[in-house]
Amino acid sequence: MQAAEKDEDILSLYQKIILDHGKSPRNAGVVEQHDCRSEGKNPLCGDRVTVTVAIDDEGQVLDLKFDGKGCAISIASASMMTEAVRGLRTDDVRKLIQAVAKLCKEELSPDQFIAEYGDGLGARLEPLTALSGVRQFPARFKCANLPWHTLLSCLDGSDSATTEG
Ligand code: ZN
Repeated sequence: MQAAEKDEDILSLYQKIILDHGKSPRNAGVVEQHDCRSEGKNPLCGDRVTVTVAIDDEGQVLDLKFDGKGCAISIASASMMTEAVRGLRTDDVRKLIQAVAKLCKEELSPDQFIAEYGDGLGARLEPLTALSGVRQFPARFKCANLPWHTLLSCLDGSDSATTEG
C-alpha cells in the first residue's frame, strides 16, 4: 500500500472512531471503590477528565472509568483508553501510556506500535492506532493525550494533572 493511501485510511479511521467514541463513550462514570483518582485538565482546549481506577493486590487494573467534559477527541481518547487498559497490569499500562504518546507524535508508526506493544494484546490495541490520526492536527495532541497523562498521574498517586507545565 502507498504511504499516502495509508495516511488517508488512518485519517478516516480516526474520524470514524473519534465520532463513535465521542458520541457514545464507554466506561463513563466513577469507580466507587477506587484505589486512585486523578483530575486532569488541558487548559489550552478546556478539556477536563477525572480518572478513577481500582487495582488488585497483583497490580492488575480491575476497573477504570472516566468522567470528562471536553472536546470529542479528549472524550474519545478517554473512552478508548478505558477499553484498552482494563485488565492490564499497571507496569504494562505505564508502557502503553508512553507508547500512545509516541504514536500520537509520529515517533511510532501504527505498525510499530502493534509490533512493539501488541504482544498478546493486538486486538485490544488495534483501535488505538486510530489515535495516530491526531498527527494531522498537532494542536490537538494534548486533547488526545490528556486522559493517558491523567491515568499516569493517578498510578503515580497524584490527584491532579495538567498538560501544561
Ligand atoms: Zn480538546
